[in-house]
Amino acid sequence: MQTSGGFTKLAEEVIARCRKLATFSEDATGTRRTFLSAPMHDCHREVSSWMSILGMNLSVDAVGNLRGFYSAASPGAPRILIGSHLDTVPNAGAFDGILGVVLAIGLVKSLEGMHLPFGIEVLGFSEEEGVRFGVPFIGSRALVGRVDEELLGRKDERGISVRKAIQGFGLDPNEISKAVLRDDVLGYLEFHIEQGPVLENLGWPLGIVEAIVGQNRLEFTFSGQSNHAGTTPMNLRHDALAAAAEWIVAVENLARRTPGVVATVGFVEAKPGAMNVIAGEARATLDIRHASDRGRTEALDELIRLAESIAARRGVTAEWRMLLAQHAVAMDSFLTEQIDHAVQKAGCEPHRMASGAGHDAMILAEKVPAAMIFMRTPGGISHDPAESVHLDDVAKALECGKHLLTQLAASQEFLGRTCRA
Ligand SMILES: [Zn+2]
Repeated sequence: MQTSGGFTKLAEEVIARCRKLATFSEDATGTRRTFLSAPMHDCHREVSSWMSILGMNLSVDAVGNLRGFYSAASPGAPRILIGSHLDTVPNAGAFDGILGVVLAIGLVKSLEGMHLPFGIEVLGFSEEEGVRFGVPFIGSRALVGRVDEELLGRKDERGISVRKAIQGFGLDPNEISKAVLRDDVLGYLEFHIEQGPVLENLGWPLGIVEAIVGQNRLEFTFSGQSNHAGTTPMNLRHDALAAAAEWIVAVENLARRTPGVVATVGFVEAKPGAMNVIAGEARATLDIRHASDRGRTEALDELIRLAESIAARRGVTAEWRMLLAQHAVAMDSFLTEQIDHAVQKAGCEPHRMASGAGHDAMILAEKVPAAMIFMRTPGGISHDPAESVHLDDVAKALECGKHLLTQLAASQEFLGRTCRA
């Protein structure tokens, strides 16, 4: 395969750096680097050294986000943000999140000392995965002013609060408000591995994210009558598990015939749960996602109706409760259009897609125009040590990013934008 216009060496460095960061871990046997853990200090030291060489100004804000600023050609100019997260799940790969930070530094390096009409702030978020405190996006939430007392009081498994963890890392929780974005931000860009099989299936290196899907999570409870498996004839049963099973297949059928919907029943439990007893109760969860809120809501309404009608026909009842409702987040249309041009200039198919997973861009989009570029994920494998990237894809992403910076630097429309922060 043809490699990308002079970016191969830089891509090699980016990949080697990601692999290096993967060695900073809480576990001896694999990569695990959760929010404000000791190895995050080592990670910061390493990433900081790469940014300092490029003349970037470094800081760590009060929730532990590492921030490096590459100045604009003239003082007082606005800035763009490019970043992703530096924390990982347990037994992680080397690229989820990390690649977006390291690639941003690579882009600054590719400028070879040239300064643009805007500054570039590279962001390495301290927390995205939600592993330590069960709450994701703590890093990016600080930038939009959404770290509150309730969050600071939350405790990890060892009983350490977010506030204490911040102090333990050598930071001051009273300074969190200083992490909030100022009104000089033109936009946020995030490069991230796709973490799915779509781009690989299509045979394309890059994807343009148009929206991050909204999602609902619910728990359904089917209640019937538990009874003897031998003495109760089939026509006199109120089998809660059979009702749940029929509904689970209906969930799959509806999602299969409704474009863009993904729906999953990932947990089911029957009570009393004995081989010779008809189940009197069955609980099942539902996770449903779609890039449009309307598409998601319509499908969800239909699945609730189906649960009720299947249950009624079988003489059982169905109840549900909502555990999570999160709306879809559209990426900025101007930036997305610019990415589309840049992807084509890099010689790639400008494939537009939705992100089925949440990302920091979703949080930043609350305050600033945000956009995302996906890189093909070999085998669709992520959150696993086998997670990988193709050298040529990283080179293409760098080439695309460089085109994008050049386009934005020349765009009066972009530079004249006023920020919502
Ligand atoms: Zn990620």
